[in-house]
Amino acid sequence: MDAETIRKNIEKIFRQLEGHDTQLLAVTKTRPPEEINAAIRCGVRHIGENRVQEFLEKYDAICKDGVSFHLIGRLQTNKVKYIIDKVDLIHSVDTLRLAEEISRRALAAGKVQDILVEVNVGKEESKGGVAEEELTPFLESISGFSGIRVRGLMCIPPIAVEKHQNLKYFLKMKQLSVDIKAKKIDNVSMDILSMGMSGDYEDAIEAGSTFIRVGSGIFGPRN
Ligand SMILES: *Cc1c(COP(=O)(O)O)cnc(C)c1O
Repeated sequence: MDAETIRKNIEKIFRQLEGHDTQLLAVTKTRPPEEINAAIRCGVRHIGENRVQEFLEKYDAICKDGVSFHLIGRLQTNKVKYIIDKVDLIHSVDTLRLAEEISRRALAAGKVQDILVEVNVGKEESKGGVAEEELTPFLESISGFSGIRVRGLMCIPPIAVEKHQNLKYFLKMKQLSVDIKAKKIDNVSMDILSMGMSGDYEDAIEAGSTFIRVGSGIFGPRN
């Protein structure tokens, strides 16, 4: 995608975000560093990658001044060590083992790692994420890990076939975050809600998303 189209797409989204407490996270999987840097020049401050290998390959070529890096995809436990010193927020924590490994590696790297817990809000077999009913016990079980700080929740709802199909899931997520916040679990804050992608981010903004994760809506369709 050319830099001019990227700029137009980003400016459109920035206008839609006006008046909301929502930030744009540009999802840059499959995109070359030149396109990522073009987005950064347009004011994007949050970059999200899915795969560790691809993230590492592009990392050196991406402008880092004032930019935060997010790992938004499935993360294998044995890959945590490669990214722990490079990411600001890990969006997709859904197992005790992964939380424990992130905590251990973060402490070794001299940091406390901000994370989100992924919720399987659509109850889909094929998807990662913690089931809604298990969310509170899960948060309680990881709240003792001193190398992580739980900042909120993330979801990837079912693929929508109709407009506004995911609004109910986004509202559900907002409710879950309010309910959990009220429980005041140690080391768990609920100031971040990562939800909404190219096809449904308007609904996510309305429901109270704090990070919309937009890929094709900025860079065009992926091959
Ligand atoms: C690819 C991806 C996105 C962005 O998807 P688009 O539909 O291209 O906006 C958002 N979140 C996650 C976890 C993704 O893997």
